[in-house]
Amino acid sequence: MSRYYLTTAIDYSNGEPHLGHAFEKIGADCVARYRRLRGDDVHFVIGMDEHGQKVAQAAEAGGVPPQQWVDTIAEQFQAAWRELAISHDDFIRTTEPRHRRAVEELFRRIEQAGHIRQGTYAGYYCVGCESFKLEKDLEAGRCPLHPSREVKWVEEPNYFFAIGEFRDRLLAHYEAHPDFVCPPAKRNEIVNVVREWTESQTQSVSRARIPWGIPWPGDESHTVYVWFDALINYLSATGFPDPGYDEIWPADVHVIGPDIVRFHAAMWPAMLMAAGVALPRQVWCHGWVNTGGARFAKSEGVPITLRELIDRHGPDALRYHLAREIPWDADGNFTLERFDARYTAELADGYGNLVSRVLAMIRRYLDGTVPDGAETGLDRIALDVVERYRKAMDEHLLHRGAEHAWQLVDAANRFVEESAPWTLAKQDRQAELATALAALARTVQRLTVLAGPFMPGKCQAVWAALGLGGSLDAIGWHTLAAPATAGATVAALPPLFPKPGVKS
Ligand SMILES: [Zn+2]
Repeated sequence: MSRYYLTTAIDYSNGEPHLGHAFEKIGADCVARYRRLRGDDVHFVIGMDEHGQKVAQAAEAGGVPPQQWVDTIAEQFQAAWRELAISHDDFIRTTEPRHRRAVEELFRRIEQAGHIRQGTYAGYYCVGCESFKLEKDLEAGRCPLHPSREVKWVEEPNYFFAIGEFRDRLLAHYEAHPDFVCPPAKRNEIVNVVREWTESQTQSVSRARIPWGIPWPGDESHTVYVWFDALINYLSATGFPDPGYDEIWPADVHVIGPDIVRFHAAMWPAMLMAAGVALPRQVWCHGWVNTGGARFAKSEGVPITLRELIDRHGPDALRYHLAREIPWDADGNFTLERFDARYTAELADGYGNLVSRVLAMIRRYLDGTVPDGAETGLDRIALDVVERYRKAMDEHLLHRGAEHAWQLVDAANRFVEESAPWTLAKQDRQAELATALAALARTVQRLTVLAGPFMPGKCQAVWAALGLGGSLDAIGWHTLAAPATAGATVAALPPLFPKPGVKS
Protein backbone atom coordinates (compact mmCIF):
# COMPACT_ATOMS: atom_id res chain seq x y z
CA MET A 1 0.00 0.00 0.00
CA SER A 2 1.52 3.27 -0.89
CA ARG A 3 0.86 6.45 1.05
CA TYR A 4 -1.00 9.22 -0.78
CA TYR A 5 -1.14 12.59 1.00
CA LEU A 6 -3.65 14.97 -0.55
CA THR A 7 -4.60 18.46 0.60
CA THR A 8 -6.88 21.29 -0.48
CA ALA A 9 -6.42 24.96 0.25
CA ILE A 10 -7.67 25.80 3.73
CA ASP A 11 -10.69 28.09 3.57
CA TYR A 12 -10.58 31.62 4.87
CA SER A 13 -12.87 32.19 7.86
CA ASN A 14 -14.55 35.38 6.76
CA GLY A 15 -17.84 34.04 5.42
CA GLU A 16 -20.04 31.01 4.75
CA PRO A 17 -19.14 28.08 2.49
CA HIS A 18 -20.17 28.68 -1.12
CA LEU A 19 -20.08 26.89 -4.46
CA GLY A 20 -16.39 27.70 -5.07
CA HIS A 21 -15.36 26.11 -1.76
CA ALA A 22 -17.56 23.08 -2.50
CA PHE A 23 -16.17 22.63 -6.02
CA GLU A 24 -12.60 22.35 -4.73
CA LYS A 25 -13.50 19.95 -1.89
CA ILE A 26 -15.64 17.75 -4.15
CA GLY A 27 -12.95 17.51 -6.83
CA ALA A 28 -10.25 16.68 -4.30
CA ASP A 29 -12.58 14.16 -2.67
CA CYS A 30 -13.09 12.43 -6.05
CA VAL A 31 -9.29 12.17 -6.33
CA ALA A 32 -9.05 10.83 -2.74
CA ARG A 33 -11.78 8.25 -3.30
CA TYR A 34 -10.27 7.18 -6.63
CA ARG A 35 -6.84 6.69 -4.99
CA ARG A 36 -8.48 4.59 -2.26
CA LEU A 37 -10.18 2.47 -4.93
CA ARG A 38 -6.75 1.91 -6.45
CA GLY A 39 -5.46 0.68 -3.10
CA ASP A 40 -3.51 3.70 -1.86
CA ASP A 41 -3.32 4.54 1.84
CA VAL A 42 -4.85 8.00 1.42
CA HIS A 43 -4.40 10.81 3.92
CA PHE A 44 -6.75 13.62 2.90
CA VAL A 45 -6.59 16.93 4.76
CA ILE A 46 -8.75 20.05 4.51
CA GLY A 47 -9.25 22.86 7.00
CA MET A 48 -9.59 26.52 7.87
CA ASP A 49 -7.31 29.55 7.61
CA GLU A 50 -8.35 31.49 10.71
CA HIS A 51 -5.87 34.33 11.25
CA GLY A 52 -5.35 37.74 9.71
CA GLN A 53 -6.85 41.17 9.55
CA LYS A 54 -9.89 40.30 7.45
CA VAL A 55 -10.98 37.62 9.95
CA ALA A 56 -10.47 40.05 12.84
CA GLN A 57 -12.56 42.64 10.98
CA ALA A 58 -15.32 40.14 10.19
CA ALA A 59 -15.47 39.08 13.86
CA GLU A 60 -15.62 42.68 14.97
CA ALA A 61 -18.41 43.42 12.53
CA GLY A 62 -20.24 40.36 13.92
CA GLY A 63 -19.70 41.62 17.46
CA VAL A 64 -17.89 38.52 18.76
CA PRO A 65 -14.30 37.70 19.80
CA PRO A 66 -12.22 36.32 16.90
CA GLN A 67 -11.89 32.82 18.37
CA GLN A 68 -15.64 32.52 18.82
CA TRP A 69 -16.14 33.78 15.27
CA VAL A 70 -13.80 31.22 13.72
CA ASP A 71 -15.29 28.39 15.82
CA THR A 72 -18.73 29.15 14.40
CA ILE A 73 -17.45 29.39 10.82
CA ALA A 74 -15.49 26.14 11.16
CA GLU A 75 -18.65 24.35 12.29
CA GLN A 76 -20.57 25.69 9.27
CA PHE A 77 -17.92 24.45 6.87
CA GLN A 78 -17.68 21.05 8.54
CA ALA A 79 -21.47 20.63 8.38
CA ALA A 80 -21.37 21.33 4.64
CA TRP A 81 -18.55 18.81 4.11
CA ARG A 82 -20.38 16.11 6.06
CA GLU A 83 -23.43 16.61 3.91
CA LEU A 84 -21.41 16.49 0.68
CA ALA A 85 -19.70 13.27 1.86
CA ILE A 86 -16.21 14.76 1.81
CA SER A 87 -14.04 11.91 3.12
CA HIS A 88 -11.21 13.89 4.72
CA ASP A 89 -9.09 12.19 7.37
CA ASP A 90 -8.19 15.41 9.18
CA PHE A 91 -9.49 18.95 9.50
CA ILE A 92 -6.71 21.36 10.40
CA ARG A 93 -7.41 24.81 11.84
CA THR A 94 -4.64 27.40 12.04
CA THR A 95 -5.76 28.46 15.54
CA GLU A 96 -4.90 24.98 16.90
CA PRO A 97 -1.84 24.55 19.17
CA ARG A 98 -0.45 21.80 16.89
CA HIS A 99 -0.33 24.33 14.06
CA ARG A 100 1.32 27.11 16.08
CA ARG A 101 4.00 24.64 17.18
CA ALA A 102 4.76 23.68 13.56
CA VAL A 103 4.91 27.34 12.46
CA GLU A 104 7.33 28.22 15.27
CA GLU A 105 9.58 25.29 14.47
CA LEU A 106 9.65 25.91 10.72
CA PHE A 107 10.57 29.56 11.30
CA ARG A 108 13.20 28.59 13.84
CA ARG A 109 14.82 26.38 11.19
CA ILE A 110 14.61 29.05 8.49
CA GLU A 111 16.11 31.64 10.83
CA GLN A 112 18.89 29.33 12.06
CA ALA A 113 19.85 28.65 8.48
CA GLY A 114 20.31 32.42 8.05
CA HIS A 115 17.41 33.24 5.73
CA ILE A 116 15.54 35.79 7.90
CA ARG A 117 16.49 39.50 7.90
CA GLN A 118 15.25 42.47 9.91
CA GLY A 119 14.35 45.68 8.18
CA THR A 120 11.75 48.31 7.52
CA TYR A 121 9.00 47.88 5.05
CA ALA A 122 7.46 50.85 3.35
CA GLY A 123 4.84 50.59 0.68
CA TYR A 124 1.23 50.59 -0.35
CA TYR A 125 -0.82 48.07 1.57
CA CYS A 126 -4.16 46.61 0.47
CA VAL A 127 -6.23 45.31 3.40
CA GLY A 128 -8.36 43.30 0.97
CA CYS A 129 -5.36 41.31 -0.28
CA GLU A 130 -3.52 41.53 3.04
CA SER A 131 -0.40 42.30 1.06
CA PHE A 132 1.82 45.17 0.01
CA LYS A 133 1.47 46.42 -3.56
CA LEU A 134 4.03 47.91 -5.89
CA GLU A 135 3.14 51.19 -7.53
CA LYS A 136 3.04 49.44 -10.92
CA ASP A 137 0.40 46.99 -9.60
CA LEU A 138 -2.05 49.78 -8.75
CA GLU A 139 -4.70 51.11 -11.10
CA ALA A 140 -5.63 54.78 -10.56
CA GLY A 141 -3.97 54.53 -7.17
CA ARG A 142 -6.08 51.55 -6.06
CA CYS A 143 -5.74 47.79 -5.88
CA PRO A 144 -7.29 46.36 -9.07
CA LEU A 145 -8.81 43.50 -7.02
CA HIS A 146 -10.32 45.85 -4.41
CA PRO A 147 -11.08 49.10 -6.24
CA SER A 148 -13.58 50.18 -3.58
CA ARG A 149 -10.91 50.26 -0.84
CA GLU A 150 -8.15 52.80 -0.50
CA VAL A 151 -4.62 51.45 -0.32
CA LYS A 152 -2.62 52.76 2.63
CA TRP A 153 1.00 53.94 2.70
CA VAL A 154 2.50 51.86 5.49
CA GLU A 155 5.97 51.97 7.07
CA GLU A 156 6.76 49.35 9.65
CA PRO A 157 9.62 47.28 11.05
CA ASN A 158 9.38 43.81 9.55
CA TYR A 159 11.06 40.47 9.33
CA PHE A 160 11.96 39.42 5.83
CA PHE A 161 12.52 36.06 4.18
CA ALA A 162 15.46 36.07 1.73
CA ILE A 163 13.39 34.39 -0.96
CA GLY A 164 15.61 35.52 -3.86
CA GLU A 165 18.34 33.17 -2.68
CA PHE A 166 16.15 30.27 -3.82
CA ARG A 167 15.51 31.54 -7.33
CA ASP A 168 17.98 29.26 -9.10
CA ARG A 169 17.12 26.21 -7.02
CA LEU A 170 13.41 26.71 -7.74
CA LEU A 171 14.00 27.10 -11.47
CA ALA A 172 16.12 23.95 -11.45
CA HIS A 173 13.34 22.14 -9.57
CA TYR A 174 10.67 23.15 -12.12
CA GLU A 175 13.01 22.00 -14.89
CA ALA A 176 13.75 18.63 -13.27
CA HIS A 177 10.10 18.04 -12.23
CA PRO A 178 7.86 19.17 -15.09
CA ASP A 179 4.76 17.95 -13.18
CA PHE A 180 5.53 19.97 -10.05
CA VAL A 181 3.06 22.64 -11.15
CA CYS A 182 0.03 21.52 -13.17
CA PRO A 183 -1.59 22.23 -15.53
CA PRO A 184 1.26 23.35 -17.85
CA ALA A 185 -0.09 26.89 -18.35
CA LYS A 186 0.27 27.50 -14.62
CA ARG A 187 3.76 26.05 -14.62
CA ASN A 188 4.82 28.50 -17.31
CA GLU A 189 3.28 31.39 -15.37
CA ILE A 190 5.28 30.45 -12.27
CA VAL A 191 8.54 29.93 -14.13
CA ASN A 192 8.17 33.42 -15.59
CA VAL A 193 7.46 34.96 -12.18
CA VAL A 194 10.45 33.32 -10.49
CA ARG A 195 12.78 34.17 -13.38
CA GLU A 196 12.13 37.84 -12.65
CA TRP A 197 13.25 37.57 -9.04
CA THR A 198 16.63 39.01 -8.08
CA GLU A 199 19.16 37.31 -5.81
CA SER A 200 18.63 39.98 -3.12
CA GLN A 201 14.86 39.90 -3.26
CA THR A 202 13.14 39.56 0.12
CA GLN A 203 9.58 38.89 1.18
CA SER A 204 8.05 40.48 4.26
CA VAL A 205 6.89 37.70 6.59
CA SER A 206 5.73 39.50 9.75
CA ARG A 207 3.13 42.11 10.57
CA ALA A 208 3.59 44.70 13.30
CA ARG A 209 0.04 45.81 13.84
CA ILE A 210 -2.16 42.76 13.29
CA PRO A 211 -2.69 41.11 16.68
CA TRP A 212 -4.91 38.24 15.42
CA GLY A 213 -2.17 35.84 14.41
CA ILE A 214 0.67 33.66 15.62
CA PRO A 215 3.21 35.73 17.62
CA TRP A 216 6.54 36.04 15.85
CA PRO A 217 8.94 33.69 17.67
CA GLY A 218 11.23 35.90 19.78
CA ASP A 219 9.40 39.18 19.08
CA GLU A 220 5.86 39.26 20.34
CA SER A 221 5.22 42.74 18.92
CA HIS A 222 4.85 41.02 15.54
CA THR A 223 2.66 38.26 14.20
CA VAL A 224 3.53 35.87 11.40
CA TYR A 225 2.19 37.09 8.06
CA VAL A 226 -1.07 35.21 7.52
CA TRP A 227 0.09 33.67 4.23
CA PHE A 228 3.20 32.13 5.77
CA ASP A 229 1.14 30.93 8.70
CA ALA A 230 -1.47 29.36 6.38
CA LEU A 231 0.89 27.47 4.06
CA ILE A 232 2.46 25.63 6.99
CA ASN A 233 -0.87 23.89 7.75
CA TYR A 234 0.11 21.17 5.26
CA LEU A 235 3.06 20.33 7.47
CA SER A 236 1.36 20.79 10.87
CA ALA A 237 -1.31 18.27 9.84
CA THR A 238 1.42 15.61 9.55
CA GLY A 239 2.50 16.05 13.18
CA PHE A 240 5.61 18.09 12.24
CA PRO A 241 8.07 18.47 13.93
CA ASP A 242 7.48 15.21 15.84
CA PRO A 243 9.37 12.14 14.65
CA GLY A 244 7.27 10.18 12.19
CA TYR A 245 5.78 13.21 10.44
CA ASP A 246 7.64 12.12 7.31
CA GLU A 247 5.55 8.96 7.17
CA ILE A 248 2.90 11.31 5.76
CA TRP A 249 4.96 14.20 4.40
CA PRO A 250 5.74 15.11 1.60
CA ALA A 251 2.33 15.75 0.09
CA ASP A 252 1.57 13.97 -3.18
CA VAL A 253 -0.61 16.82 -4.32
CA HIS A 254 -1.75 20.22 -3.02
CA VAL A 255 -5.05 21.04 -4.76
CA ILE A 256 -5.52 24.82 -4.98
CA GLY A 257 -7.32 27.55 -6.90
CA PRO A 258 -5.76 29.81 -9.54
CA ASP A 259 -5.51 32.90 -7.31
CA ILE A 260 -3.02 31.31 -4.91
CA VAL A 261 -0.71 29.41 -7.24
CA ARG A 262 2.26 31.76 -6.65
CA PHE A 263 2.12 31.21 -2.90
CA HIS A 264 2.04 27.44 -3.33
CA ALA A 265 4.35 26.91 -6.27
CA ALA A 266 7.05 29.50 -5.47
CA MET A 267 6.92 30.79 -1.88
CA TRP A 268 6.04 27.50 -0.19
CA PRO A 269 8.80 25.41 -1.82
CA ALA A 270 11.30 28.23 -1.08
CA MET A 271 10.29 28.15 2.60
CA LEU A 272 10.73 24.37 2.70
CA MET A 273 14.10 24.56 0.95
CA ALA A 274 15.20 27.19 3.48
CA ALA A 275 14.18 24.94 6.39
CA GLY A 276 15.65 21.80 4.85
CA VAL A 277 12.28 20.03 4.54
CA ALA A 278 11.31 17.89 1.52
CA LEU A 279 9.12 19.52 -1.16
CA PRO A 280 5.60 18.38 -2.07
CA ARG A 281 5.43 16.34 -5.28
CA GLN A 282 2.80 18.42 -7.05
CA VAL A 283 0.73 21.59 -6.91
CA TRP A 284 -2.50 21.09 -8.87
CA CYS A 285 -4.32 24.25 -9.86
CA HIS A 286 -7.98 23.84 -10.76
CA GLY A 287 -9.88 26.58 -12.59
CA TRP A 288 -12.68 28.95 -11.67
CA VAL A 289 -16.36 28.05 -11.57
CA ASN A 290 -18.04 30.87 -13.44
CA THR A 291 -21.62 31.31 -12.36
CA GLY A 292 -22.63 33.61 -15.18
CA GLY A 293 -23.81 36.50 -13.01
CA ALA A 294 -27.50 37.17 -13.38
CA ARG A 295 -28.34 33.74 -14.78
CA PHE A 296 -27.24 32.24 -11.49
CA ALA A 297 -29.19 34.65 -9.35
CA LYS A 298 -32.72 33.94 -8.16
CA SER A 299 -33.96 37.50 -8.35
CA GLU A 300 -32.58 40.98 -7.91
CA GLY A 301 -29.03 39.72 -7.80
CA VAL A 302 -29.43 37.40 -4.79
CA PRO A 303 -27.07 34.52 -5.51
CA ILE A 304 -28.18 30.94 -5.05
CA THR A 305 -26.69 29.45 -1.89
CA LEU A 306 -24.84 26.17 -1.48
CA ARG A 307 -27.80 25.02 0.66
CA GLU A 308 -30.18 25.50 -2.26
CA LEU A 309 -27.80 23.79 -4.70
CA ILE A 310 -27.56 20.72 -2.45
CA ASP A 311 -31.33 20.65 -1.95
CA ARG A 312 -32.05 20.93 -5.67
CA HIS A 313 -31.14 17.33 -6.59
CA GLY A 314 -29.28 16.00 -3.54
CA PRO A 315 -25.58 15.98 -2.64
CA ASP A 316 -24.50 13.16 -4.99
CA ALA A 317 -26.06 14.86 -8.00
CA LEU A 318 -24.28 18.12 -7.19
CA ARG A 319 -20.98 16.24 -6.82
CA TYR A 320 -21.46 14.48 -10.15
CA HIS A 321 -22.49 17.60 -12.00
CA LEU A 322 -19.58 19.70 -10.77
CA ALA A 323 -17.01 17.00 -11.52
CA ARG A 324 -18.47 16.30 -14.97
CA GLU A 325 -19.31 19.86 -16.03
CA ILE A 326 -16.32 21.91 -14.87
CA PRO A 327 -12.98 20.69 -16.29
CA TRP A 328 -10.63 19.96 -13.39
CA ASP A 329 -7.75 21.62 -15.25
CA ALA A 330 -9.47 24.77 -16.60
CA ASP A 331 -12.26 27.26 -15.97
CA GLY A 332 -15.88 26.24 -16.52
CA ASN A 333 -19.43 27.50 -16.28
CA PHE A 334 -22.13 26.51 -13.84
CA THR A 335 -25.72 27.12 -14.79
CA LEU A 336 -28.91 25.74 -13.29
CA GLU A 337 -30.17 24.83 -16.77
CA ARG A 338 -27.16 22.58 -17.35
CA PHE A 339 -27.44 21.14 -13.85
CA ASP A 340 -31.09 20.23 -14.41
CA ALA A 341 -30.41 18.89 -17.90
CA ARG A 342 -27.58 16.62 -16.76
CA TYR A 343 -29.61 15.46 -13.80
CA THR A 344 -32.43 14.33 -16.07
CA ALA A 345 -30.41 12.94 -18.98
CA GLU A 346 -27.39 11.39 -17.28
CA LEU A 347 -28.58 10.53 -13.78
CA ALA A 348 -32.37 9.93 -13.87
CA ASP A 349 -32.68 8.63 -17.47
CA GLY A 350 -29.05 7.43 -17.69
CA TYR A 351 -27.41 5.59 -14.81
CA GLY A 352 -30.50 5.59 -12.57
CA ASN A 353 -32.80 4.14 -15.22
CA LEU A 354 -30.24 1.50 -16.20
CA VAL A 355 -29.87 0.31 -12.61
CA SER A 356 -33.66 0.19 -12.08
CA ARG A 357 -34.33 -1.73 -15.27
CA VAL A 358 -31.58 -4.28 -14.74
CA LEU A 359 -32.54 -4.97 -11.11
CA ALA A 360 -36.24 -5.17 -12.03
CA MET A 361 -35.66 -7.60 -14.91
CA ILE A 362 -33.47 -9.90 -12.82
CA ARG A 363 -36.18 -9.95 -10.17
CA ARG A 364 -39.02 -10.44 -12.61
CA TYR A 365 -37.52 -13.04 -14.96
CA LEU A 366 -34.96 -14.82 -12.78
CA ASP A 367 -36.39 -14.61 -9.25
CA GLY A 368 -33.74 -12.09 -8.32
CA THR A 369 -30.73 -14.34 -8.85
CA VAL A 370 -27.99 -12.97 -11.08
CA PRO A 371 -27.30 -15.56 -13.82
CA ASP A 372 -23.92 -16.68 -15.12
CA GLY A 373 -23.25 -15.82 -18.74
CA ALA A 374 -20.49 -15.66 -21.32
CA GLU A 375 -18.65 -12.47 -22.22
CA THR A 376 -20.46 -10.18 -24.67
CA GLY A 377 -19.64 -7.13 -26.75
CA LEU A 378 -20.80 -5.01 -23.83
CA ASP A 379 -18.04 -6.46 -21.62
CA ARG A 380 -15.45 -5.53 -24.24
CA ILE A 381 -16.76 -1.96 -24.34
CA ALA A 382 -16.66 -1.89 -20.53
CA LEU A 383 -13.03 -2.99 -20.35
CA ASP A 384 -12.05 -0.35 -22.88
CA VAL A 385 -13.92 2.28 -20.85
CA VAL A 386 -12.18 1.16 -17.65
CA GLU A 387 -8.79 1.65 -19.28
CA ARG A 388 -9.63 5.14 -20.56
CA TYR A 389 -11.17 6.06 -17.19
CA ARG A 390 -8.03 4.90 -15.36
CA LYS A 391 -5.76 7.01 -17.57
CA ALA A 392 -7.90 10.12 -17.13
CA MET A 393 -8.25 9.71 -13.37
CA ASP A 394 -4.52 9.03 -12.92
CA GLU A 395 -3.96 12.46 -14.51
CA HIS A 396 -6.62 14.06 -12.25
CA LEU A 397 -8.84 14.72 -15.30
CA LEU A 398 -12.04 14.01 -13.38
CA HIS A 399 -14.36 15.41 -16.04
CA ARG A 400 -12.86 12.99 -18.59
CA GLY A 401 -13.16 10.09 -16.16
CA ALA A 402 -16.87 10.81 -15.71
CA GLU A 403 -17.32 11.27 -19.44
CA HIS A 404 -15.77 7.86 -20.20
CA ALA A 405 -17.89 6.14 -17.54
CA TRP A 406 -21.08 7.61 -18.97
CA GLN A 407 -20.20 6.29 -22.43
CA LEU A 408 -20.68 2.89 -20.81
CA VAL A 409 -24.05 4.01 -19.39
CA ASP A 410 -25.16 4.86 -22.93
CA ALA A 411 -23.78 1.61 -24.37
CA ALA A 412 -25.57 -0.41 -21.68
CA ASN A 413 -28.91 1.33 -22.22
CA ARG A 414 -28.57 0.61 -25.97
CA PHE A 415 -27.74 -3.02 -25.14
CA VAL A 416 -30.99 -3.28 -23.15
CA GLU A 417 -32.98 -2.07 -26.15
CA GLU A 418 -31.15 -4.29 -28.63
CA SER A 419 -31.19 -7.47 -26.56
CA ALA A 420 -34.82 -6.86 -25.46
CA PRO A 421 -34.83 -9.24 -22.46
CA TRP A 422 -38.64 -8.90 -22.18
CA THR A 423 -38.98 -10.51 -25.62
CA LEU A 424 -36.49 -13.26 -24.76
CA ALA A 425 -38.51 -14.00 -21.61
CA LYS A 426 -41.81 -14.06 -23.46
CA GLN A 427 -40.37 -16.45 -26.06
CA ASP A 428 -38.77 -18.58 -23.31
CA ARG A 429 -35.25 -18.22 -24.78
CA GLN A 430 -33.64 -18.87 -21.38
CA ALA A 431 -29.99 -19.13 -22.45
CA GLU A 432 -30.05 -15.83 -24.35
CA LEU A 433 -31.96 -14.16 -21.50
CA ALA A 434 -29.33 -15.30 -19.00
CA THR A 435 -26.48 -14.10 -21.20
CA ALA A 436 -28.03 -10.66 -21.64
CA LEU A 437 -28.92 -10.11 -17.99
CA ALA A 438 -25.57 -11.46 -16.78
CA ALA A 439 -23.77 -8.97 -19.04
CA LEU A 440 -25.98 -6.15 -17.78
CA ALA A 441 -25.42 -7.07 -14.14
CA ARG A 442 -21.65 -7.05 -14.70
CA THR A 443 -21.94 -3.68 -16.40
CA VAL A 444 -23.97 -2.14 -13.59
CA GLN A 445 -21.39 -3.44 -11.13
CA ARG A 446 -18.52 -1.94 -13.14
CA LEU A 447 -20.31 1.37 -13.60
CA THR A 448 -20.99 1.56 -9.90
CA VAL A 449 -17.26 1.20 -9.19
CA LEU A 450 -16.38 3.88 -11.77
CA ALA A 451 -19.08 6.29 -10.58
CA GLY A 452 -18.28 5.70 -6.89
CA PRO A 453 -15.78 8.57 -6.48
CA PHE A 454 -18.37 11.00 -7.89
CA MET A 455 -21.50 9.68 -6.12
CA PRO A 456 -20.38 7.70 -3.07
CA GLY A 457 -23.81 7.56 -1.38
CA LYS A 458 -25.87 6.36 -4.35
CA CYS A 459 -23.19 3.96 -5.55
CA GLN A 460 -22.84 2.23 -2.19
CA ALA A 461 -26.63 1.74 -2.20
CA VAL A 462 -26.49 0.17 -5.68
CA TRP A 463 -23.58 -2.00 -4.60
CA ALA A 464 -25.67 -3.40 -1.76
CA ALA A 465 -28.73 -3.86 -4.00
CA LEU A 466 -26.59 -5.94 -6.37
CA GLY A 467 -26.11 -8.35 -3.47
CA LEU A 468 -22.45 -7.40 -3.08
CA GLY A 469 -21.09 -7.14 0.43
CA GLY A 470 -18.58 -4.80 2.00
CA SER A 471 -17.50 -1.33 1.10
CA LEU A 472 -17.38 -0.39 -2.56
CA ASP A 473 -14.34 1.80 -1.85
CA ALA A 474 -12.33 -1.06 -0.41
CA ILE A 475 -12.96 -3.83 -2.93
CA GLY A 476 -14.58 -2.31 -6.01
CA TRP A 477 -11.55 -1.82 -8.22
CA HIS A 478 -10.44 -5.48 -7.96
CA THR A 479 -13.78 -6.64 -9.33
CA LEU A 480 -13.63 -4.68 -12.60
CA ALA A 481 -11.76 -7.33 -14.60
CA ALA A 482 -14.10 -10.13 -13.55
CA PRO A 483 -17.24 -8.91 -11.75
CA ALA A 484 -18.51 -11.30 -9.11
CA THR A 485 -22.22 -10.79 -9.63
CA ALA A 486 -23.26 -14.33 -10.71
CA GLY A 487 -25.25 -16.14 -8.03
CA ALA A 488 -25.95 -12.98 -6.01
CA THR A 489 -29.49 -12.06 -5.02
CA VAL A 490 -30.49 -8.57 -6.01
CA ALA A 491 -32.79 -6.32 -4.01
CA ALA A 492 -35.29 -3.72 -5.12
CA LEU A 493 -34.14 -0.12 -4.98
CA PRO A 494 -36.31 3.01 -4.90
CA PRO A 495 -35.62 5.34 -7.86
CA LEU A 496 -32.09 6.68 -7.41
CA PHE A 497 -32.78 10.05 -9.02
CA PRO A 498 -36.48 10.90 -8.82
CA LYS A 499 -37.63 13.51 -11.27
CA PRO A 500 -39.06 16.67 -9.77
CA GLY A 501 -42.82 16.43 -9.58
CA VAL A 502 -42.83 12.66 -10.19
CA LYS A 503 -43.82 10.67 -7.10
CA SER A 504 -41.95 7.43 -6.65
ZN1 LIG B 1 -6.38 44.12 -2.98
